[in-house]
Amino acid sequence: MNTGGSAARRVRAAGWLDEPLPPVRLSIEVFPPKTKEAAERLWQNLELFVEARPRFLSVTCGAGGIGATTTYPLAVAIQERFRVPVAAHLTCAAGSRAEIRALLERYRAAGITRIVALRGDPPKGVAGFVPPADGYAYAVDLVRAISELGGFEVSVACYPEVHPEAPSPDFDLDNLKRKIDAGAVRAIAQYCFDTDRILRFRDAMVRAGIRCEFVPGIMPIHSFQQIKRFSQACGASIPAWLAELFEGVAEGSALHGMIAATVVSEQVRRLAAEGFRALHLYALNRAELPLFIVQILRASRVSTAD
Ligand code: FAD
Repeated sequence: MNTGGSAARRVRAAGWLDEPLPPVRLSIEVFPPKTKEAAERLWQNLELFVEARPRFLSVTCGAGGIGATTTYPLAVAIQERFRVPVAAHLTCAAGSRAEIRALLERYRAAGITRIVALRGDPPKGVAGFVPPADGYAYAVDLVRAISELGGFEVSVACYPEVHPEAPSPDFDLDNLKRKIDAGAVRAIAQYCFDTDRILRFRDAMVRAGIRCEFVPGIMPIHSFQQIKRFSQACGASIPAWLAELFEGVAEGSALHGMIAATVVSEQVRRLAAEGFRALHLYALNRAELPLFIVQILRASRVSTAD
């Protein structure tokens, strides 16, 4: 059942689109679809996302490539169709310095000047990241190159639970500092279900003198099994309380949806109460839970104003 359409109707019925922006803004991340059907669904969902007035929509870059034939056309098409701010993810993977520079010039020509600069992950089944010939080895090198070109607003990734390949937490934090010092203005966090860790990471950033916008990443759990797989790959942990909540719950059931909605709403409300004014939503091209989060933030605003 696709509930996205009815959620949008509720949003319209509430007259919400005429209201001022809520104090917590969302950026929403989508990925280039692989099939015609998936593309159709994505475009339907994008309409709903745009109605929720995101701060920007970001388009990922598939593992193992810089996205010239995937990220670029989708990012440009979204911007042309909706006239919303779009950020393109750009990785060091599989592209020489010259190819990356040429792609950046194409983004600039298309009016896309927000870049999420990443090292990237190796393609599925390949162990370890191997920098391309005459390419960049780490995200910091890419950030430096983009800063040298000028005219782009750069975000980078950060890891409240530490990147799995980092030699130590301090090294990883220092790596973030180097990325910010190289010209990035925003650190977007890997998702982390342990909100206390996100708050401790914010404190650690302040102690380390990292001055930039810190945006927690929010992962709605459309499928707990899928999130377990993702988490193994990216180093995010699944807390015992979360595993217990989903224990024995059928994927796709109403109960699964209720638990997922409760988990994400508690996290988003707590982060809002802790003073975060921007969150990054890993939508995975799905609309139901992202639109639910939009509702929650709006309701939070009403309740804090009361
Ligand atoms: P880096 O900042 O370069 O760090 C990678 C690792 O190297 C870290 O462990 C760091 O501590 C270590 N390191 C840094 N410098 C050195 C050094 N000199 N010597 C030794 N170790 C060092 N992946 C994609 O493929 N496409 C995407 O679109 C994408 N989007 C993402 C968006 C967000 C918000 C996030 C959080 C992640 C995203 N990723 C994406 C995943 C990301 O590419 C991986 O997590 C990748 O493994 C690391 O990327 P990074 O930019 O953090 O790398």
